[in-house]
Amino acid sequence: MHSMDPTTESMIRSVLAYAENRLRLDPVPLDRGSTEPAKLDAALKGLPGPGPHTPDQVLGVWASVMAPAVISADSPRFLGFIPAAPTKASLLFDMLVSCASIQGISWLEAAGAIHAENVVLRLIADRAGMPSSAGGCFVSGGSAGNLSALVVAREVAKRKAGPAAAGRRWRVAVSEDAHSSITNTLRICEMDALVVRSDDHRLTGDGLRAALAASPDPGSVAAVVATSGTTNAGIIDDLAGVAAVAREHQLWFHVDGAYGGAGLFAPSVRAFYEGIEHADSFIVDPHKWLFAPFDCAALLYRNPSIAKSVHTQDASYLDVIHDRPGEWNPTDYAYHLTRRARGLPLWFSLSVYGVDAYSEAIETAISLAREAADEIQSRPGLELIRKPSLGVVLFRRHGWEAAQYTAWADKLLEDQVAFIPPSAWEGETVARFAFLHPHTTMDLVREILDRMD
Ligand SMILES: *Cc1c(COP(=O)(O)O)cnc(C)c1O
Repeated sequence: MHSMDPTTESMIRSVLAYAENRLRLDPVPLDRGSTEPAKLDAALKGLPGPGPHTPDQVLGVWASVMAPAVISADSPRFLGFIPAAPTKASLLFDMLVSCASIQGISWLEAAGAIHAENVVLRLIADRAGMPSSAGGCFVSGGSAGNLSALVVAREVAKRKAGPAAAGRRWRVAVSEDAHSSITNTLRICEMDALVVRSDDHRLTGDGLRAALAASPDPGSVAAVVATSGTTNAGIIDDLAGVAAVAREHQLWFHVDGAYGGAGLFAPSVRAFYEGIEHADSFIVDPHKWLFAPFDCAALLYRNPSIAKSVHTQDASYLDVIHDRPGEWNPTDYAYHLTRRARGLPLWFSLSVYGVDAYSEAIETAISLAREAADEIQSRPGLELIRKPSLGVVLFRRHGWEAAQYTAWADKLLEDQVAFIPPSAWEGETVARFAFLHPHTTMDLVREILDRMD
């Protein structure tokens, strides 16, 4: 199975040729094959089975049936949820990370990989204005980052409160617009939400202060989570205000920038992020708006040694990675142990294209959102719900109910024009553009809007 026989030789050629073709697709088609489990099952024809199959046979099934049944998140026509637009450099290097079995667990095993990843973490920390002490690691996604950070926040609160507070149920101040992964994290960690009433969907320092003042037990609040770019609307919370109140009340200040954190690289919106430099922890997903392949989230702590004291795994077989002071073990900064060096594709791509190209690509999506908003406002049947801050545009078509939005979106996908599933705003079904791919055009936007007539 591991030997270099003729099958391996031809398999390398076939798989690399497939990868090469895919890399050369420009633009990447949206795709939408069969999604019926019975049909997919029939196509697999019992793969895998007890015996071998030729690689070409298996690859053929993948290419003809399974691959088309995956909508391409990296198509410029993918405008739903949060799209992806990994650079060619990052995709190629991701392949290299796999081919060379690069892991990024400990300095002892993987100093080269970890050092390159840390350079990227430093770059992000600098953009945020975090101190030189800041550091962390790359994890699989924003959900993993939020969980790892809030576990540290809870532990810090517990230590501060001491034995008198043993068994206390901790709370985290959040806005109603915080990401669903925060709700999940609280459930996993057995913490409760102190929901802060927000001002026009934006968490503010005043709102937080009022919520703490109204709470019968403000001492049970361990942390506050602000969002720097809500997923549904791209709204950036009042980070400076929240940071100040967090400091007054000694709360851990976590900033969830999974989607919008990339805006730190866009000069036209950088001012909205003021206050982020005070974050105790901060996450951003390069697999979203920093053009890295799935799956990749950067997790940064202001004071990584606290995170290390919470997340380090003790096992006798791991002692050797921990007895050398000064060595950086990414495994110590989140709930994981084994980890792929998933920050490397971003390091390679940033190095190849330069950071300025990233700023430009991020600005392109922001400009497109502004242009699309103007276009929506110029059309009588349409209404812009709010002025876009980042790359997300929410709007409604007068007179439409949920079923009409769904039918419109289904037809757009069927015709391979766009993937743009409806969203919701204050309980109402609405339409939503999520711009991220630098090759999405205004022509496409107009075509999509024309279909609402
Ligand atoms: C996407 C997103 C998350 C979750 O990130 P995953 O990478 O999908 O786990 C968390 N918070 C925000 C604001 C997001 O946009």
